[in-house]
Amino acid sequence: MKHILSIDQGTTSSRAIVFDENQNIISESQKEYQLQYPQDGWVEARPDEILSSVKETVNTALKKSGVEINACGITNQRETVVVWRRSSGEPIYPAIIWQDRRTSDLCNELKNDQNLEKEIRRKTGLLLDPYFSASKIKWILDNVKNAREMAKNGELCFGTIETFLVWNLTDEKNHKTDATNASRTMLMNLETLEWDDYLLDIFDIPKNILPEICSCDDTFGSISISNQKFPITGVIGDQQSALFGQNCFEFGEMKSTYGTGCFLMVNTKEKIYRSKARLLSTVGSKLGNKTSYALEGSIFSAGTSIQWLRDEMRFFDDSVESEDLINDNFDSNGVCFIPAFTGLGAPHWNSEIRGSIHGLQRDTSRIDLITSVFKAISFQTLEILEALKLDGVSVSSLKVDGGMVKNKKFLQLLSNTLSADIKKPVQIESTAVGAFKIALLGSGIKNINEIKEIGLYDEFKSQESSQLNNDYQIWKGYLKKNL
Ligand code: ADP
Repeated sequence: MKHILSIDQGTTSSRAIVFDENQNIISESQKEYQLQYPQDGWVEARPDEILSSVKETVNTALKKSGVEINACGITNQRETVVVWRRSSGEPIYPAIIWQDRRTSDLCNELKNDQNLEKEIRRKTGLLLDPYFSASKIKWILDNVKNAREMAKNGELCFGTIETFLVWNLTDEKNHKTDATNASRTMLMNLETLEWDDYLLDIFDIPKNILPEICSCDDTFGSISISNQKFPITGVIGDQQSALFGQNCFEFGEMKSTYGTGCFLMVNTKEKIYRSKARLLSTVGSKLGNKTSYALEGSIFSAGTSIQWLRDEMRFFDDSVESEDLINDNFDSNGVCFIPAFTGLGAPHWNSEIRGSIHGLQRDTSRIDLITSVFKAISFQTLEILEALKLDGVSVSSLKVDGGMVKNKKFLQLLSNTLSADIKKPVQIESTAVGAFKIALLGSGIKNINEIKEIGLYDEFKSQESSQLNNDYQIWKGYLKKNL
């Protein structure tokens, strides 16, 4: 039996899981680390803390497992930026986390030139926004003393988190990224999968600081840790990793992650779809020379709404209880909820709108309101499916993961709303599973057909409901009035 180490470096914690080749978990370890908020809209972390949290979880997971590791896969929070000295590996500034908005002004300035904005969208599939790495790298080069000069002299390296980890963990100190992570930097051309001189010029970033772009299943170097030595044979960004981990290998297969927010991604295979609903086009995976593209959308509030019901409305003490408080027939007694606590993401992209509740009556109950919140999350998913259809992408299957999918009633509601069957993996750690699978492929332990066989699912069969269709139209009506 062969064993794979999967490293999942997330926004608030790092995890390491040892799997056997059939995806059974042998051991795992998790460690949180601190984010810093030095100014309004700024979000940073210490790169050395990120690195030590990874090393610690790897050491613990390896010790607990007692097995020999054959290969390692890495998945990570995307877009976060680190710049370090080539000679010593010492970062010249903290990691700027993807949530950081300090470059809003710069992005707005660039947006004034509409042709430029269009060209960036055409080349990268992304929207001109501080979220992506490019403007953050520029900020570091412009604001850290001597950074530009050091960069010009070839003394600096840039990396998103996977690159920073590969550099620091490999014996060879390799400076490499993979195509999925590179596609989120706003510096890579989505068609050629190479760094793009036009984009580098706009953001004034010298090419020599950039890593080499590899396929996800390339060999990224070897790690020596806990008296073991093994190769890294898989690297992939977190959302793409979940797509892969959920076995969404065919056109139209979609995964939806219901955590704090909701992240949806659908496989569009070799074609780059340009969305009218401002969904992002991105690299889903690159295996060998084969690239699969994907469309990505996010809903800002999913689990947040459940937390709000728990913490502010005090309707229950634990999210688990919410399941029993959803009306059995999904009737919310006319109540409609718009979960726009921080604006609305795809397909509306409106940051001004705020949440609202409609249709309250004298007999409206706690159950009605709770049911309306779960319905709103389902309706938002349906809106994205409809937007995808307009873009020419019919979703053929939906797999779900994230903290909210423990709630079976919610999944039945979702399935009925979408008029589609839904699959939930028995192991809901899809992100770590994706990196595990890529590493299995990259190491040659299994081939793609064997990988497709791994993974068990619970299925939720859609039950037709004209009531839900009706409620969706009413909900959309309220939403339109608010937009
Ligand atoms: P993240 O990765 O974004 O931190 P998780 O995937 O861990 O989030 O999911 C946590 C979210 O799931 C929380 O917002 C919580 O309210 C929600 N949640 C957890 N259990 C349930 C449940 N049984 N029913 C509904 N929501 C739940």
